[in-house]
Amino acid sequence: MTDIIIIGAGTAGMTAAIYARRAAKTVIVFEGMSYGGQIINTPEIENYPAIAGISGFDYATKLFEQCSALGAEIRFEKVTALEDKGAVKAVTTPNGTYEAKAVIIATGSENRKLGVEREDALVGKGISYCATCDGGFYRGKRVAVVGGGNTALEDALYLADIASDVYLIHRRDTFRGEQATVDSLSARENVHFVLCSRVTALVGDPRLEGIEVTDNEGNVQVIQVSGLFVAVGRIPNNREFAQLIPLDEGGYVAAGEDCTTPVPGIFAAGDNRSKAVRQLVTAAADGAVAATQAISYINLGS
Ligand code: NAP
Repeated sequence: MTDIIIIGAGTAGMTAAIYARRAAKTVIVFEGMSYGGQIINTPEIENYPAIAGISGFDYATKLFEQCSALGAEIRFEKVTALEDKGAVKAVTTPNGTYEAKAVIIATGSENRKLGVEREDALVGKGISYCATCDGGFYRGKRVAVVGGGNTALEDALYLADIASDVYLIHRRDTFRGEQATVDSLSARENVHFVLCSRVTALVGDPRLEGIEVTDNEGNVQVIQVSGLFVAVGRIPNNREFAQLIPLDEGGYVAAGEDCTTPVPGIFAAGDNRSKAVRQLVTAAADGAVAATQAISYINLGS
């Protein structure tokens, strides 16, 4: 019987492992892909306190080494099921079933892709899914944001202070995001609304140089931009747990800032949890909170 099983070796999961090991709990971290989570795709992190600059890969590797050195066992097995048996939680992977006193689900979320040709190839070469992470690389340049939710609107506003011009591409003429933010964007001279339109092709090789945009009437234009920020929603990786843990309408675990779920002994940490700010630093914070809660749950026996 392991004390704490952590599902997901991203920032939240590996931070939880550090806290759990420092409290002398036995820990297995299950990871279905490679360690690090989505940060591994970020070329340069510049917003993590006390680290002025580090690549996502180097950051994730240091975190992996830190939690391994503390004695967390990291197994590259994809969790396919989680069962609550009261005091015992059963975690199943293709290699078998493991039991734990507490489980932390830290499976993160995936960016919804636009689905345009060469989108994956241009990530880090003009395409980004995170304006707060990568906006600083586009100082004085022309960028586009695609999407009509709060993320796209707030990304556009954030980028309007950095970039020379921001093109906001949205497939409808009304926004899912807040009107107050739309009003703020309308007041900016360097923000250009391109509505009832979709990005239909990416121009430039090996870096992005422009986007082909097609409106709902079929008219095509090419907009020269060096950055395209895709903000068309996220897909949380919670499918395996939907029967056990309540999810909100977006599919996120409906856990608050204390990372507890309605199931005693099961906690949620990081980007797969309902929250307003999804950043590296908040994922790390969640890992610390969830581990502390799990440690108390085990020590207090409830
Ligand atoms: P979202 O609200 O789901 O919006 C996604 C947007 O992308 C929608 O406008 C959608 O268009 C568009 N879209 C989806 N698929 C597309 C595609 N294939 N091609 C083009 N456009 C596509 O996602 P979000 O903006 O990431 O926000 C997620 C949640 O977090 C929301 O509840 C939001 O309010 C919340 N949030 C809150 C804050 C805050 O409180 N400050 C900040 C950010 C996010 P349609 O509208 O036409 O469907």
